[in-house]
Amino acid sequence: MKGRKPTEPIILEKREWNPATIVLFSLMVLLAVVAVPVFGFMHGYIWLDWTMFGVLYVVRALGITVGYHRLFTHRSFECKDWIRITLLIAGGWALENTARKWCSDHARHHARADQEDDPYNAKRGFWYSHIGWVLQRTTYYSEEYTFGLLEDWTVMWQERWYVPIVLSGFALPFLVGYIHGGWIRGLGCFLLAGFGCVFLVLNSTFCINSVCHLWGAQPYTTSNSSRDCWWVSLITMGEGYHNYHHAFPRDYRNGPLRRNFDPSKWFVFGLSLVGLAWNLKRIPDWKREAARHAVLNGG
Ligand SMILES: [Zn+2]
Ligand SMILES: [Zn+2]
Repeated sequence: MKGRKPTEPIILEKREWNPATIVLFSLMVLLAVVAVPVFGFMHGYIWLDWTMFGVLYVVRALGITVGYHRLFTHRSFECKDWIRITLLIAGGWALENTARKWCSDHARHHARADQEDDPYNAKRGFWYSHIGWVLQRTTYYSEEYTFGLLEDWTVMWQERWYVPIVLSGFALPFLVGYIHGGWIRGLGCFLLAGFGCVFLVLNSTFCINSVCHLWGAQPYTTSNSSRDCWWVSLITMGEGYHNYHHAFPRDYRNGPLRRNFDPSKWFVFGLSLVGLAWNLKRIPDWKREAARHAVLNGG
């Protein structure tokens, strides 16, 4: 594996269904679309459940977008270790695998977009890029896409403690509900802010791989299927400007314009204002405009 460039063709192992993931995801769908409404019908949800749902949605989503994506995959800024650990815990709560696996898959997606070894190859259709790729066991030779992750002690710490981190993400809403009102309120908070919330965060992330490679404008690059789809930004903390992101993946902003709804860039910028993040990578406006004009001129 050593010495081979990431752009060279990669031999894939045979694709096959992954029973463990299929069972886990089926269980989650059942809980999210059956148990959550049934519980709501029988016992109702209270303000605490909805507050925990909202808070944990934002926390889990930022763990993925700011942590897994912009920090650990694209190194678009630097920050204190305790911020890295916090983001790794928040990302782990989203049930999207360990940062090491997520980042190597995502780096491969950028390097091999729309090709056979793109993990969420949109050319294989909406459902494959949305969820099908998760349900299949595809073992890639990913070493060249780990780019220093194995030497990052914070990433390896999360790898080691991944299961307890995931469980703590479900235990937290249960405990908060239980302390407030006993077993029934614990169960309600667990269902809504646990499984209901994770189900929605997962699907919002999946929309970036599916929707943002099928529908929307391509103002900055036409070299791959990525699209800018503003409404996806509303549910993904600003990740819907995916065409810009494929054109300039190192930029800490996915939505580079002032009017772009990108809470993740505001969060990173906010961290930098108080000295908790630094070295924010930002593509100059002229470069962005040059890319836009090149597309307009058919380049
Ligand atoms: Zn993409
Ligand atoms: Zn990316």
